[in-house]
Amino acid sequence: MNTSLTLLDRNLQLVRYPQDLQHPSWQAWDAADEYIIEYVEQNFQDIKNQSVSIYNDDFGALACWFADSKPIWVSDSFVAKQSCLVNLQQNNIPIESVSFYDSVTPIDSPVEVVLLKVPKTTALLEQQLIDLQARVSPSTTVIAAGKANLIQKSTLALFEKYLGNTTTSLAKKKARLVFCQPAGITSDSSLYPTIWFTDKPRFKISNLANVFARQQLDIGARFMLEHLSKLANMNNKTVIDLGCGNGVLGLHILDQSKHIKVVFVDESYMAVASAKKNVLVNMAEKEHQCDFIVNNCLDNFTQKSKFTEADMVLCNPPFHQQNTVTDHIAWQMFKDAKSVLQNGGQLVVVGNRHLDYPNKLKRLFGNAATVATNQKFSILSATKR
Ligand code: SAM
Repeated sequence: MNTSLTLLDRNLQLVRYPQDLQHPSWQAWDAADEYIIEYVEQNFQDIKNQSVSIYNDDFGALACWFADSKPIWVSDSFVAKQSCLVNLQQNNIPIESVSFYDSVTPIDSPVEVVLLKVPKTTALLEQQLIDLQARVSPSTTVIAAGKANLIQKSTLALFEKYLGNTTTSLAKKKARLVFCQPAGITSDSSLYPTIWFTDKPRFKISNLANVFARQQLDIGARFMLEHLSKLANMNNKTVIDLGCGNGVLGLHILDQSKHIKVVFVDESYMAVASAKKNVLVNMAEKEHQCDFIVNNCLDNFTQKSKFTEADMVLCNPPFHQQNTVTDHIAWQMFKDAKSVLQNGGQLVVVGNRHLDYPNKLKRLFGNAATVATNQKFSILSATKR
């Protein structure tokens, strides 16, 4: 992995977290980071003495570069925060230089300079622009950066709608900057959470802006729900909904058995907050049987969860880390599941049939059985022995 960012006579050593699982061709910053750094360095005389907020810094490159400004750092990603912490440490930058906020905690302090990486999910950008209305004034400078293909006319229209006049730069190494001048716009209410309902039982599913399958039930999850009742009786057992998103899988298994315990885990703060809300709204009487953890897979699970042992892990694994398509997270989820499960416990995975999950599970667990299959998906089960 290229870990050395050299720009404007300065060098940073930057890695992606967790470092050991990354592909050698990946790096922890992109052309949009370089473009926004160069622009700010060349156009701001006194950035150190301005209040700076950084949104969606993928792996902490911007936090490290602008640490002297003591920035507020906002992200929906636990993994991004871990990357940022590692990168601050290895560049000998005090962690206290950065004030960390997650995406579900309101921030009300005014800001002079906003540096924002345009996220993959447009709804997250929209929510963040709405949140920023309370923090910006006409003297605030908002600069966004992203891959040119992420910055469409509709993206600029969002900046115009929620903040004010917006222009763009020329593209450089396929990245582009967005310049926005806040005009004191305020919106009445947010569009989020998005709400939809499951069929049977009819659960109300609430989704904050960055939650996977925000607008409707994912088709892989739907297939898993059709076959949940085929799994072993989970009464008195502990189930982990790993990569829970809005918690739709965990919610259904919680409903199936009286004394079941369910741990909802995701790296997105908005996902875990949504899963918690969905338990409270649909089955408040079972909240004490649940735990909700923002985490990277099952890192240090036994220290983080109030339920220390697991009898089953349910998983609809992710395909992406930030903008990169990858199966390294699925692989880590399977390995972590194996280490957390009791002997005899099961990992149950739904995945696209073309994915190599059966071989991965056989390599890891020594066994893999097909619970159900259709034209697109398979549900696989592996037992810890
Ligand atoms: N279980 C939900 C469903 O079936 O609708 C969501 C499944 S979605 C395919 C995968 C989920 O994994 C996303 O919610 C994503 O935020 C989460 N995820 C991605 N990387 C993760 C990580 N390193 N640790 C924990 N969760 C992660």
